[in-house]
This record gives sequence, structure tokens and C-alpha cells, in this order.
Amino acid sequence: MRIGFGIDFHQLAEGRALWLGGVQIPSPRGAVGHSDADVLLHAICDALLGALALGDIGQHFPNTDPNYKDIDSKILLGRCWDLVKGRGWRVVNIDSTVTLEAPKIMKYAGVMRETIAALLEIGVGDVSIKATTTEQMGFVGRGEGIVAYATVLLGRATGPEARTER
Ligand code: MG
Repeated sequence: MRIGFGIDFHQLAEGRALWLGGVQIPSPRGAVGHSDADVLLHAICDALLGALALGDIGQHFPNTDPNYKDIDSKILLGRCWDLVKGRGWRVVNIDSTVTLEAPKIMKYAGVMRETIAALLEIGVGDVSIKATTTEQMGFVGRGEGIVAYATVLLGRATGPEARTER
């Protein structure tokens, strides 16, 4: 098995859409970035890449490349998954936490989990999303930014240890 960890940060600003876990969440403020700035999907991308020591999302998808301007991060996650799958691995499970002051996001966790599970060809029960504020402390607490953390466990896609049931 292999374990990976990812973390991502984005600023929040008025007039930007808030994309999280592949889902657009109603919010007066959204994340600023070269892509759609989906901080949770970016953290999961980095966790997938990290599990196989394949570098980071910035190396694979440079924020100076016009091809990635405003790109849907589901496409980036799909490409990271292709790299992992192509090397003979499967995702066992993902755990993640999003830190932000507002809006409350847990009512969207179900659809985010479904979106991520479908992209990575796993069950909804294999994708955990949690959320917390920082109790008004620091840049997250002041509503200036958003942070996501993710861990991913990979197992061999084939062989005696591969899961036979989903
Ligand atoms: Mg990012």
C-alpha cells in the first residue's frame, strides 16, 4: 500500500464562484486561482501524486500555462487518477478536511463525495469530507482564505491483496 497527503490554499474574494469537491456552492465569495480554484480537489490531486512520489499539482499543471486557465478541477483530478491507475493502483479510501469560516458546506458534502467517488471509481463510503472553522483565528478565520487537507490510501489494483468487492 501507499499513502499520500495533500494540502492546498486559496484566497477568497467577492465575485468569484466557490467550487469545492467538484460542486459549485452558493456563496458571495469564492476562491481565487488560475483554475476554478477548487481547493479540495487540488488537495486530493496532491495526495494522489504524493502517494506515488509523482511530484505535485503545480509541476503537472503549471499555473502559468494558459491551457489550465479557469479549468474545471475535475479534469485535473481525472488526469491525476489516470496516472495512478495507469501504474496499477486503486484508491482504498480518502479522508479530507476543509477549513473555512463561511459558508457552511456540510450540506453539500454528500454530492461532493458522490462527485469525487465517481471520478476515482470508488464508493461514496470510501470518500470522507469534513469541515471546520478556525474559530475566527488567522487568515481562514478572517475569511481571507480557504484551506483543504487530504490523505489518500492506495492499494494494488490487481493481485491477491486487491479488493474483490466494491
Ligand atoms: Mg490550488
